Amino acid sequence: MRRQMHEAAAAGADLAECRLDFLKHAPDEQALRGLLSDRPIEVIVTNRPVRQGGKFKGSERRRLAILRLAAQLSPTYIDVEDDVPAEDWPGGAIVLSHHDFSGMPGDLDAIAAALDRSPAAVNKQVFMTSRANETLRAFDILRACRKPTISLAMGEAALCSRILARKFGAFGTFASLAGGCESAPGQPSIADMKNLYRWDSIGPATAVYGVIGCPIAHSMSPAIHNAAFTAAGVDAVYVPIRVEEGRDNFFRLMDGLLERPWLDWRGLSVTIPHKENALAYIAAGNCDKLSRKIGAVNTLTISPSGSVRGDNTDYSAAIDALCHACAMRREDLAGKAVAVLGAGGAARAIVAALRRYRAEVTVFNRSLARAEALAEEFSCQAEALKHAGEMNAEIVINCTPIGMSPDIESSPLETIPACVKVVFDTIYNPATTALLRQADQQGCVCVSGLDMFVNQAVAQFELWTGRPAPRDVMRQVVQQRLAARTERGRA
Ligand code: NAP
Repeated sequence: MRRQMHEAAAAGADLAECRLDFLKHAPDEQALRGLLSDRPIEVIVTNRPVRQGGKFKGSERRRLAILRLAAQLSPTYIDVEDDVPAEDWPGGAIVLSHHDFSGMPGDLDAIAAALDRSPAAVNKQVFMTSRANETLRAFDILRACRKPTISLAMGEAALCSRILARKFGAFGTFASLAGGCESAPGQPSIADMKNLYRWDSIGPATAVYGVIGCPIAHSMSPAIHNAAFTAAGVDAVYVPIRVEEGRDNFFRLMDGLLERPWLDWRGLSVTIPHKENALAYIAAGNCDKLSRKIGAVNTLTISPSGSVRGDNTDYSAAIDALCHACAMRREDLAGKAVAVLGAGGAARAIVAALRRYRAEVTVFNRSLARAEALAEEFSCQAEALKHAGEMNAEIVINCTPIGMSPDIESSPLETIPACVKVVFDTIYNPATTALLRQADQQGCVCVSGLDMFVNQAVAQFELWTGRPAPRDVMRQVVQQRLAARTERGRA
């Protein structure tokens, strides 16, 4: 623990929490002296009992006696649970804490008010939740309390409460020394808190953006957008929000964000499974025609007055990646024969855009019925994927996951017909798929899903900030993250 205090100080923490209940043996006076004398960092000493989510299993008398011994060594703060009578508190500055591991308590505000009335120096109120909308209640508490307060929600859905705490004037937040060393569910590492979410640069005026999806833990969007904000000097932060599948869950979170204009929430990326829900949420008229026809939006922009606009940057990102690689304008797609492999969400956005610019499209899909339904909607042709070798197309666009990591040797086409001049694989992990390697050997123009991926993030940045996006920085972030993933995969 002493070594970890040094590591925390070196990593830039302001305070280290010494969780005495995590030690193998309850510490005696000598052990506490070894831990707390001449310490390298300010500390909160905590000895959490099992009843409040800790690991201390001994008697309450013994537990408080250890805290009293620690208090004699003048730690910066001592954490005491709010069910301990004030006459039993050890000396020193007290962090009075309340934990709910089973969910958000119904009397959250009453608990907060009681903490606020106590003589403790700092309030700490923490609850577990898997509902993203409940996470926002942690910010309500921060706004209402008059004393220095820590107010957090635990769990993956609640990560943003830990990051945005600083914007709402929290006394602090908690981060772990490294992944795997968390003392509570959903805690990010101190490196991510400092470097990815840029904790030190968050302030009351910081604008907030995020990505909604499920799953969300591996999204690269926080890394891309936060790096872009830094590079462009924009006072903003971008956080992941895990929202379980279901329209109600999505709507509840959106209502929660809009009911709190003081959050300064200005935009959201929306990913699987909520793109259709996002379109359903926004008022008619606040979305372009093509996004409505596609039936999905991946970008929401929230104005200071609370109106929400929806855009689909996926289709424009794909079309622009294709046109850029072929040195042509969108209008030049008219009359070009394009084979689209796949009939899912990505294919739908791309087919809609291709038809909007009057390309001649054939959809090849594993399930023919799905290809036919898409083709009928957008007035194009449909074929089974097994007949893709017989295509008569100049451009091929792969919108299936065939070839995606870890299955990187697979390709949706055994051979690429000689008529094909351009191959666009929407997969971005890896950036060069087996299909693109085949295409390159045949001298085709190759377009990577990486370009599409970067384009859609660039478009979001520009919609939200009205400034040109630092495209090179954003691309670099994606490449670095992909390289790190490949490296981890090899290890
Ligand atoms: P989706 O809605 O689940 O659709 C997947 C499509 O692929 C369906 O048509 C499905 O055929 C087909 N498919 C899946 N597994 C297959 C297999 N083993 N063999 C043959 N066909 C198969 O997914 P999506 O959202 O459209 O995403 C598709 C791909 O697009 C992703 O894997 C991703 O790489 C790429 N993408 C890239 C970006 C980017 O920014 N670069 C953005 C979005 C998506 P059935 O209908 O027969 O099931």
